[in-house]
Amino acid sequence: MKKDIRSYTFEELQNEMELLGEKKFRSSQIYEWLHVKLADSFEEMTNLSKPLREKLEAEYTIWPLEMLERQVSELDGTNKFLFQLQDDHVVESVLMRYKHGNSVCISSQVGCRMGCRFCASTIGGLERNLSASEMVGQIYQIQKISGERVHNVVVMGTGEPLDNYDNFLEFIRILTDEHGLNISQRNVTVSTCGIVPRIKELAKENLQITLALSLHGATQEKRQKLMPVAKQYNLQEVLEACDFYFRETGRRITFEYSLVAGVNDAAEDAKELIAICSPRNCHLNLIPVNPIKERDFVQPSRQSAEKFKKNLEKYGINVTIRREMGSDIDGACGQLRRKHAKKQKDKEEI
Ligand code: SAH
Repeated sequence: MKKDIRSYTFEELQNEMELLGEKKFRSSQIYEWLHVKLADSFEEMTNLSKPLREKLEAEYTIWPLEMLERQVSELDGTNKFLFQLQDDHVVESVLMRYKHGNSVCISSQVGCRMGCRFCASTIGGLERNLSASEMVGQIYQIQKISGERVHNVVVMGTGEPLDNYDNFLEFIRILTDEHGLNISQRNVTVSTCGIVPRIKELAKENLQITLALSLHGATQEKRQKLMPVAKQYNLQEVLEACDFYFRETGRRITFEYSLVAGVNDAAEDAKELIAICSPRNCHLNLIPVNPIKERDFVQPSRQSAEKFKKNLEKYGINVTIRREMGSDIDGACGQLRRKHAKKQKDKEEI
């Protein structure tokens, strides 16, 4: 099988080219075609000789992602994309436009095996991991299709990035390499459900990316009801791993907390959250749960979410309610992909 050339870091590509007997500067040119000019074929690489292009063609493939669907929100300009991969699996990605720049939310796996109760991405289980090239590919395609530069990247789409650790790390190195798109590490956020050993490993990688922890419950008991992974790594351990990440990297942790009416939005929950947040240098992001049709979780009213927020603010906690983007399109994680899967199934059954 041909090798996936877009999955190599700059150093790895240099080694590959050396093995092919090519000069070192060739790898800079090729890397630039792949990760700056976002070429989808070797033919486009016009400053390489024809024999070299043919040699590359024989050994490697680029594997562009194919856009299957694009939904554009009329409310806030959010774009939701469905991309098809080489083996016909599909992933979704989102482009959000903020005042401070364009942000892209990417998927890290096809499906997910973490089983969080309120999440649509996990319902069909995990299909497979995404390669580093399929992760950068989502950003590259969005940049090409929209014609706009991407400034921030959040790994908050389908999948658990730390369950696909090696590819995720390659992805970060490629994305933030000065020879490539050169996105600042500080503009990259990775969200995890709390895989403790991987958080500690990530803390040691000498990176400056932001870690967001999906908290969702402020006690062990509540958290494990919503997130099965909490049975494996308890709340105390997860918080200690976050503290370790902060100590090692100096990066402030973000806690994500999906507000679910009647489940985790009472005054008592706010009190437990205050106990977690107030001794820490952190940012708390409240996300009114996005209802999915497979479950009956309900969003709290705007008023009650505001009240919850005010309660935390009184204690000096840095807290925001996440603005809902693209609510007129299939906004919540995994919804567009599930709709597509259902359409395919219906077609097969006819
Ligand atoms: N696996 C990673 C990334 C997943 S999605 C993680 O668990 O963090 C990013 C965030 O969206 C997570 O905090 C996740 O718990 C949350 N999320 C998933 N489905 C949601 C929904 N229906 N409503 C609100 N938040 C949701």
